[in-house]
Amino acid sequence: MLDPKDEIKQKIEIAELIGEYLALKPSGSHRFKANCPFHSEKTPSFHVSSDRQIWHCFGCGEGGDCFSFVMKMEGMDFPEALIHLGQKTGVEIKRLSTIDSNVKQRLYELHDLAVKYYAKTFQDSSGAMKVRQYVQERGITPELVQKFSLGFSPPEWNTCTQFLLKRGYRESEIEISGLGQKRKTGSGLIDRFRERLMIPLRDQHGKTVGFTARILPDSLTTRLPDDSSSPKYINSPETPIYHKGQLLFGLDLAKRAVKELGCMIIVEGNLDVIASHKDGVENVVASSGTALTTEQLKLLGRYTKTIVFALDQDAAGLKAARRGITLARAEGFDARALILPNGIKDPDEFVQQKPGGWKTVASHSIPIMEFLITHVTKGKVFTNIDDKRAMAKELLPALQELTDVVEQTHWLEVIAQLLGVDSAVLQRKIQRIPTPKEKIDTKSVQGVAPQVPHTRLSKDQQSILLILGLAITQDEKFGFLLEDLKETITEESEVFDLYNTAHFLYTTRDNTPSTALFKQIQSQLSEKHQEVLLNLLIKISLLAEQTFSELSQAQVQEQIQTLFAVLHRSQTQRKRQSIALQIRQAEFLGNQEVVNSLLKQLSEIQ
Ligand code: ZN
Repeated sequence: MLDPKDEIKQKIEIAELIGEYLALKPSGSHRFKANCPFHSEKTPSFHVSSDRQIWHCFGCGEGGDCFSFVMKMEGMDFPEALIHLGQKTGVEIKRLSTIDSNVKQRLYELHDLAVKYYAKTFQDSSGAMKVRQYVQERGITPELVQKFSLGFSPPEWNTCTQFLLKRGYRESEIEISGLGQKRKTGSGLIDRFRERLMIPLRDQHGKTVGFTARILPDSLTTRLPDDSSSPKYINSPETPIYHKGQLLFGLDLAKRAVKELGCMIIVEGNLDVIASHKDGVENVVASSGTALTTEQLKLLGRYTKTIVFALDQDAAGLKAARRGITLARAEGFDARALILPNGIKDPDEFVQQKPGGWKTVASHSIPIMEFLITHVTKGKVFTNIDDKRAMAKELLPALQELTDVVEQTHWLEVIAQLLGVDSAVLQRKIQRIPTPKEKIDTKSVQGVAPQVPHTRLSKDQQSILLILGLAITQDEKFGFLLEDLKETITEESEVFDLYNTAHFLYTTRDNTPSTALFKQIQSQLSEKHQEVLLNLLIKISLLAEQTFSELSQAQVQEQIQTLFAVLHRSQTQRKRQSIALQIRQAEFLGNQEVVNSLLKQLSEIQ
């Protein structure tokens, strides 16, 4: 009986799994590459090997197997990834019953049930007539109601709470979930949401984690006339499964479209997302009324590095979007803008007024700088010094946020020409503004993962890694190279440790090994939880595959010779340097005899 982890590994095809998230391009047989989702880049350095069922990014150094990919991509811990992939492959995972995962599991189930409850009330109850009427007036079709699982919370005080209690949930659980709250006087719970349109908030996997609830227009409700203080929207509170700043409304339904179209549209309201789907625009999410957070951007970054802000012509939305744009740029996103037609304030209104129009506009985004320039220069006089100053004050910080030098230079020239200022002067000006990164970093250093230093490898180190990789991945042909490598790896390092493991396993195994060396090393390192070495193993294996797999046998031999030549050359050089040092020491001590003998050695080497 295999353990579930290995069973999943056997059943899953890593390229297929990763292909669900990234647009993989073939790169040789059984190998693929893509732009890395974990760091910002324009040329792909993220590699996937089907032969070995591993992935690695040569840009940021991340890598691993199917589990580590899902963990990073979905922000899961290992048990969550195990359950997730178990469901995908039909491998049964015995639930790990930690208290924490139990609480979460119960909350997910409770929310599932509540979604069904509100949906059923929406469809069947006579009291829901007004919400059905409201939804219809807003042009939300029955298909959309179903797609977004819209519901209705009845006006009574505690029907939902009672329903959940009857289904076996404890008062404490209902209270934690936020669906019920303690009565101010007396005992028991009352419903948080009453007589509202219920919009489930789903995470990127489609699991409901909370609700946002919209009030119905006055004419449709049973509220007393003086009860006008109720807010238009109320939301679930923060719970163990719902964190407002980490959720993007619509992401579960946007994943496919984003992959296809390569960008994500950001709108303000959840109803804008629903309206967008009506018009066939599905690569759209809402930050649910708040400004975009870094967490939301990190989540988005797993799917695309291009985000498009939907902005109205009066740029009322620009003010709200401004911080999001700044953050997005700091996170390495390419930020673009979509301009809604004159007089239209959001996609929801657009779709209601002009069906089909949003779809056309949604595919014509422009660089955000272009939008800003048009907006800032509107109504300004280019010869008026005050106007010029005002324009510069708005545009320069935006210009300075651009991380791409080519892009920045382009817009710098455009703005310099517009303002009639020398571009060199502008350049100096923007260098004095603190960058958004600096501003953000000083505010919130906590929670930011430390950047792994990514040192450039010397030619020597590269040669060693390539030969070691070749010996490991094609051990039946090239395992013998491990012996030749012995004297070239001298420094204590991770490479040294990995080499020792490989060398030991290779020299101690029998003549007809049943398992490839790569697998043997992999399982030994996993057993000992040597993550750093595992990562290195994966990295050099992919490196070797990339370098050698398309070459003929003779070409491989030639490559090996070249690599060893590099190594021997620098070995010789090191020896020479060491002798030269000894000579200087001997000269200093006046020991001519030693100097002579060393000089002889030196000439022999040369
Ligand atoms: Zn990367």
